[in-house]
Amino acid sequence: MPDPILFYSTNQKSPLVTFPQALLKGIAPDGGLFMPERIPVIAPAEFEKYADLPYHEIAFDVSRRFLAGQIPDAELKRIVKESYNFPVPLEQVTGRKYIMRLDQGPTASFKDFAARMMGRLMQYYLHIGNRKLLILTATSGDTGSAVANAFYGLDNVQIVILFPKAEVTDRQRKQMTTLGKNVHVLALNAKFDDCQALVKQAFADPALDILSLSSANSINIGRLVPQIIYYFYAWSRLHLSASEKIIFSVPSGNFGDMMGGVLAMKMGLPVGKFIIATNENSEFPDYLGSGVYSKIEPSRNCISSAMNVGHPSNLARLVDLYGGTMDEKGNILKPANMESMRKEIWSVSITDEKTRKTIKETYDTYAVVLEPHGAVGWAGLMDYLNSEPSAAPDPLCVSLETAHPAKFPQEIMKILSIDPELPMSLQGIEGKPELFEEISNDYEDFKSYLIKNFK
Ligand SMILES: *Cc1c(COP(=O)(O)O)cnc(C)c1O
Repeated sequence: MPDPILFYSTNQKSPLVTFPQALLKGIAPDGGLFMPERIPVIAPAEFEKYADLPYHEIAFDVSRRFLAGQIPDAELKRIVKESYNFPVPLEQVTGRKYIMRLDQGPTASFKDFAARMMGRLMQYYLHIGNRKLLILTATSGDTGSAVANAFYGLDNVQIVILFPKAEVTDRQRKQMTTLGKNVHVLALNAKFDDCQALVKQAFADPALDILSLSSANSINIGRLVPQIIYYFYAWSRLHLSASEKIIFSVPSGNFGDMMGGVLAMKMGLPVGKFIIATNENSEFPDYLGSGVYSKIEPSRNCISSAMNVGHPSNLARLVDLYGGTMDEKGNILKPANMESMRKEIWSVSITDEKTRKTIKETYDTYAVVLEPHGAVGWAGLMDYLNSEPSAAPDPLCVSLETAHPAKFPQEIMKILSIDPELPMSLQGIEGKPELFEEISNDYEDFKSYLIKNFK
């Protein structure tokens, strides 16, 4: 067996670490993001066999390429089998254009794919090391519920979730506040950015070292590996020949989802193009066009609220993958190879007006209900196909639908005059009692809450 894959920091100033070290730390000591020192390549003859495998077995084979030697096969098999116990529908929209619905998990967003596997991996390593963790996470809606659900009831993990009281929907809030046990929820009269700032300050505070803090946000390598898998899955179900390339469109905010796809391509998946569709936070399409990066501060509020990000935290990984260096503040210390990035990636910013129009037209023309995030992805795909008529008449395309329409009932009602049917996972939360505390935006209050409850 080859040596286990180690992980380096994109800031290049921290030593290499193993997978469990990177997983439990979250962020590198120098403030960079962990990346695999080599990217395992899967030969076409191997991934062609995925056509006959269920999702969880594909998940095992893909993730084992990164984790071999760092977890027993039997444990990894159990973890992916428990994590992926829900369907992953590929829905034909028209011709060979599909949407992949990543919204059938227990909290009805694609965050479930990463959170469920990461939670179980963390539990495994904590258990064998007889360790405990206190996970802090700030959420704009979907991460909080996916993480809470994934870690709910685990005995060696406590979770504290901070959310901006006025910025999440009732359904999103209830998905977090009706759990209890080891899930502790704090509401703030503040913006998402303020919640995030409190969490970052706690990580940097040596007085809190005694609490064994860790993070579950999208920079954790434990979220990145699971987000590679569904790209292989889509190809395995739709390709006609071994060399057929697929065009993916990914609605993006913090760019974790997109990074999973780009890594799948580097592992050998035949990809024609990645479309990175953002909402009005256009810092990435602007950067791809000009090579000059500037973040958008404060971020713009759009109806695809989970993508209201003015400086994507995973961008440092993409820059690194194309030979450059970006620090955590967004400064480019060494430019990436923009030419090769542009060969593989195409990007566009979609306005709210166009997002709404896309929801309406996709429903009227194809009877397919998209929510605002998926609509940004679909609109991006249409823009790409219109701008570069490809040689193939009907290229194979998959656009990712990242949340269930029932998570955004007001917007769907306004545009389509229908109330999307609640998936099983969202039924029954309406009547349950809610449990959360309110704290101020002041760091000292947050710190004393943590010490009082978890020391
Ligand atoms: C988090 C989220 C996104 C953005 O994903 P990133 O990995 O942050 O780019 C898109 N859609 C929904 C519904 C989300 O919850």
